[in-house]
Amino acid sequence: MLSLRVLILGGAGEASELARRLAGDNRFTATLSLAGRTRAPALPPIPYRIGGFGGVDGLVRWLCEERTELLVCATHPFAEQMRRHAVEAAQRAALPLLMVERPAWEPEQGDAWIEVVDINAAVDALGERPRRVLLTTGQKDLAAFTRAPWHDYVVRSIEPPASESLPPKAELISARGPFSEADERALLQARQIDVLVTKNAGGTATAAKLAAARALGVPVVMVRRPPVPELDGIEADVVGDANAAFAWLEACHERASRLRGV
Ligand code: NAP
Repeated sequence: MLSLRVLILGGAGEASELARRLAGDNRFTATLSLAGRTRAPALPPIPYRIGGFGGVDGLVRWLCEERTELLVCATHPFAEQMRRHAVEAAQRAALPLLMVERPAWEPEQGDAWIEVVDINAAVDALGERPRRVLLTTGQKDLAAFTRAPWHDYVVRSIEPPASESLPPKAELISARGPFSEADERALLQARQIDVLVTKNAGGTATAAKLAAARALGVPVVMVRRPPVPELDGIEADVVGDANAAFAWLEACHERASRLRGV
């Protein structure tokens, strides 16, 4: 049986789900790559590697050395650099690329969103008047809020962030989603939050905070996604979830089996 060699660039829930789907499936020899940002990541049931590749050159080298045949980019929608590297490496190594791009959240009736282009614009959108802010932007973006120290921040992240990246008067909450709407409402009410800041990650795992904010009339500063890298001129497809990614891999396997007569 033909076993296609696949690299999955992880970081989003879709990558972990795809890894679970591929475990024990001998049509594929898959490796999951993690950036190594989380100290205790949930480990996948397939071979994995942790840490950067050393830029595009390192990634291309890895793909060649491992004789990779298919590249799946299932990083977080805000992992802009890794997504760009995936596109460039797929082009240089002449590999088919699959981008897993989960749909963005869309505002609904009753939402009070202030959409901004990046994290600096999110800081500006909080304004000059002191507010109680819930930050769920991820550790990487916290430092931007140190320039607006007049707000009171509640920072929720999977692991405690480095103290130097925190705005003063920040209260920390360590928690990993999924969260229920009832819990999110309770959090917003207990901490008297009057504005929520989030990136438009999409997906269901952390969407309950938006429903809770809507129900309580709490405005949301929503950071728009960075653009998807240009895919012109390379063999690439885009899907929205792990099921569709698995179907893409199956189709690649069928095609390769037919072409190679196995
Ligand atoms: P990034 O800025 O796009 O990438 C920075 C560097 O981290 C990359 O150039 C690469 O280093 C390394 N890297 C990123 N993803 C990798 C992977 N799957 N395997 C190996 N190396 C990887 O990424 P980021 O925004 O810092 O995100 C880091 C990780 O956290 C990613 O796995 C991402 O999916 C996840 N994440 C990010 C966010 C967010 O809001 N940015 C939110 C949740 C989860 P080299 O150049 O040395 O290869």
